[in-house]
Amino acid sequence: MTDQAAANVQTNLVHNFNAGPSILPQEVFRQASEAVLNYNNSGLSILEIGHRTATFQAVMDEARALVRELMQLDDDHEVLFLHGGASTQFMQVPMNLLDEKKTAAYADTGVWGIKAIKEARLFGKVEVVCTGKESNYTVIPKDFAVPNEAAYFHITTNNTIYGSQWQKIPKTSIPLVGDMSSDIFSRELDFNAFSLIYAGAQKNMGPAGVNLLVVDKNMLGRINRNIPTIMDYRNHIKEGSMLNTPPVFAIYVCLLTLRWLKEQGGVAAMEKRNITKADLLYAEIDRNPLFTGTVAREDRSKMNVCFVMNTPALEDSFLAFTKERNIIGIKGHRLVGGFRASLYNALPLSSVEVLVEAMQDFARLHAQQNN
Ligand SMILES: *Cc1c(COP(=O)(O)O)cnc(C)c1O
Repeated sequence: MTDQAAANVQTNLVHNFNAGPSILPQEVFRQASEAVLNYNNSGLSILEIGHRTATFQAVMDEARALVRELMQLDDDHEVLFLHGGASTQFMQVPMNLLDEKKTAAYADTGVWGIKAIKEARLFGKVEVVCTGKESNYTVIPKDFAVPNEAAYFHITTNNTIYGSQWQKIPKTSIPLVGDMSSDIFSRELDFNAFSLIYAGAQKNMGPAGVNLLVVDKNMLGRINRNIPTIMDYRNHIKEGSMLNTPPVFAIYVCLLTLRWLKEQGGVAAMEKRNITKADLLYAEIDRNPLFTGTVAREDRSKMNVCFVMNTPALEDSFLAFTKERNIIGIKGHRLVGGFRASLYNALPLSSVEVLVEAMQDFARLHAQQNN
């Protein structure tokens, strides 16, 4: 690391609003880099030890136990760390829970939900029970019914691209499945109300390439299909999430983040902080004459804040203005345009303050130019 880079890290000069992969706690980066060189003073890198060693077993055990503790899971729910991104779960969930005789219900709240629906159709019938399409996904659907006989009901709890979020988790008698990739551990929820939760790690938990899976074991074995060994959740449960070589480094970094989360006061403390950050930014968007939020107020995400400029021609100039202040990652997704500021757990309030100040200064500058 150059001295300047080290100084930037120390003073947190870069304000990282990336949507994913995204910011993790600085101390997690430091501890992870130490473990690459010399894990726990063993003289070995975390990258060169066997996954069946007592050393790595301890990492896996602690990571699974911390997830259980932070989510307050009951004994029916199993915790696994699986290979692949959340996109792998688009396929693996229906492969384990759906067959040709069954119907799964899905909520279409944008790109990730649509991708999940497409994969589920390979394994059984799918009923899309609601869609936010007419609003270009700026609204979370409210009035809909889930068929009583559905095998499960799938929602995307936070829509990373559009910046919408289910504020209330729908109550149904149908087993609930949640893609929580971009809001896992960000707010208090009754996690036991879900029969299955999955989350790609790279938004709020760790490096890309590992998935957190929480599943009610009573959901498994109810379908009529041969499932490939590596795809069958039951095999992973039986082997303690060590069916084959797990993504050891990614899991280790998740463990470091989970420890950090617990030290910070757990999910409840994160939620408080996330509300403060989101409220601050949305208040500025609503107050500042140059900006408008894109999502219905009641459905606004506390993780991904999407907004546009009332004069689109100013957007490039605002982006350049923020770049000078070391604000990065706020360009909106190509499907939405404008800006998206991701406020994941590890993003400090001070970064949001810097962004808000930039918005205020830019508005002042613009007002002067127009006079
Ligand atoms: C990022 C994201 C995904 C895709 O994750 P990959 O790890 O790239 O497969 C799926 N769902 C949601 C909600 C996401 O934010």
